[in-house]
Amino acid sequence: MNQRELTVRRPGGQRARGCGRRQNALLRRCFLPATALCLLLAVCVVGFKPDASAQGDKTLTAENTSYRANVLPQTEPNFSLLVPEPITDDQQQPGSVPPAASGSPRASAPDKDSWNLILVNPWNSLPADYTLSLTELKNGLSVDSRCYPDLQAMMDACRADGLSPVICSAYRTQEYQEKLFQNEVSRLIAQGYSEADVAVEAGKSVAVPGTSEHQLGLAVDIVDINNQHLDESQESTAVQKWLMEHCWEYGFILRYPNEKSEITGIIYEPWHYRYVGHEDAEQIHSLGVCLEEYLEGAS
Ligand SMILES: [Zn+2]
Repeated sequence: MNQRELTVRRPGGQRARGCGRRQNALLRRCFLPATALCLLLAVCVVGFKPDASAQGDKTLTAENTSYRANVLPQTEPNFSLLVPEPITDDQQQPGSVPPAASGSPRASAPDKDSWNLILVNPWNSLPADYTLSLTELKNGLSVDSRCYPDLQAMMDACRADGLSPVICSAYRTQEYQEKLFQNEVSRLIAQGYSEADVAVEAGKSVAVPGTSEHQLGLAVDIVDINNQHLDESQESTAVQKWLMEHCWEYGFILRYPNEKSEITGIIYEPWHYRYVGHEDAEQIHSLGVCLEEYLEGAS
């Protein structure tokens, strides 16, 4: 509709006659500004129409869903008053915020020199003067005596829930670790790895002798009796699901979680558990960190 039509038509649609000029002038002064005001109001109403997703529209898009999820925690109860949901590695998402610690925060920073927090990894060898006292398990394997009671309690509790965990590796001597490492080197060479790359590659799955936690006597490999393969299929077994949920209650942590290999230097191992003691295991579990991250900045 152009301006000329507006000036010659009345609202009722009849053509203007008689006092033409004065009426036209009146129309220009009153009718045109009123029309413009109506148009402006119409634009405002359309522009401020509420977002359907914010009104609980059932046809939420993925973006809307994530937006709502991000908003939810603001209205949830204080997590520090609740026992946290167990964290399994496959629940960890990149960039996700770790849940708040469930118990009281540590009174002090973790002591990295304490026997239960000794860091042994590809960059930190077993201390040269390291000594330990061993307790032999029923199957002939041994562990550091200081973690034995909690290990036994964890195994008993897992079995009481109708499951069948099997400890397939525990304390290893330097000689035994060297043998395992050499076996892995030979396996990779048979697959075509060059001599130059094979040591680094082997170290990703079998710790270089002197850098294995098993030499501490504080690490155990536990599998489900129904699946004794040391691969990622372990994480789906009933035993691993139970252990990932409860191990921290007995002072153990899943030492090489998924998504942490760049930090630990070891592939994801949903069967390798390390004893760190009750207080630190609870903290590590609650924070959703690996041991290396936990010990960052430790005294
Ligand atoms: Zn292991």
